Amino acid sequence: MALFRGKRYFKVDLEERRAGEEDTLWLKCKACGQLVYKKRVEQNKNICPRCGEYFFLTARERIKLLVDEGSFEDISRPIVATDPLHFVGPKPYAQSLKEAQERTGLLNEIIVGTATIEGLPVVLAVMDFRFIGGSMGSVMGEQIRHAIRKAVELRRPFVLVSSTGGARMQEGILSLMQMAKTASARHLLEEARLPFISVMTYPTTAGVEASIASLGDVTIAERGALIGFAGPRVIKETIGQELPPDFQTDKFALERGIVDAVVRREDLKGEIARILRFFVPFGGGRPSPDENAIPSLSMGERRDGRDA
Ligand SMILES: [Zn+2]
Repeated sequence: MALFRGKRYFKVDLEERRAGEEDTLWLKCKACGQLVYKKRVEQNKNICPRCGEYFFLTARERIKLLVDEGSFEDISRPIVATDPLHFVGPKPYAQSLKEAQERTGLLNEIIVGTATIEGLPVVLAVMDFRFIGGSMGSVMGEQIRHAIRKAVELRRPFVLVSSTGGARMQEGILSLMQMAKTASARHLLEEARLPFISVMTYPTTAGVEASIASLGDVTIAERGALIGFAGPRVIKETIGQELPPDFQTDKFALERGIVDAVVRREDLKGEIARILRFFVPFGGGRPSPDENAIPSLSMGERRDGRDA
């Protein structure tokens, strides 16, 4: 069964459509309620200049924020989802896909590329929540596997930035199989002794949180990230208990060891670079490491200075 199909000559067309989105000059901040000049917000890493609230980032905006200028090369496989189940929810899945492509200018929900971060080479994969909630179907699973294989081939660390509602239920069991596919691909990095840094942003939930996003050697939450499996209402009804007030917040995840650090958006690039540099002496990101020279890894230091 064909789970996705190759597609060419698509990007240019969609790039042009995206230009139409640039019309708005002002944004309203949901935190402080102020109107803020869009250009100023963009120049400020999509952070509200008045109150510090984070505006949502598209995959492209996120990439721009994290990598060295001009270093990013898109190596995504040109594949789009098919509709093997002929699924019809509130609207047909095929229609949702088409609308998402037109709205976002993207072929699918994740962008994969090579880049440098403060001069350190990486393979980077970034999800786009606007594309059907950044959900993981057959295409995302394949793109992540492709990214990991590329990282192994080029001997580069792998950085994954999640922004997702979880598995793409429109693809039924095929979407859940991507949890196993990505988790098994992740082992290739381990075998090659290459680091995997997982960055969880708002939101990183359900099937992605329960698979690849939680399998990083180092896991960072962007400040304000929502991290969890099922929604609070479902959990509350299932276990019949009140949930802690900070349930599924970045702070909650840090205190329970789900993430290693909570990092402000403005510090994210520097923090990833700091972690990458930590791994360089162990072979991460450098060609032809001497296997015998690699000691066992341990991350003993946390950002807050306490022992991990
Ligand atoms: Zn604000």
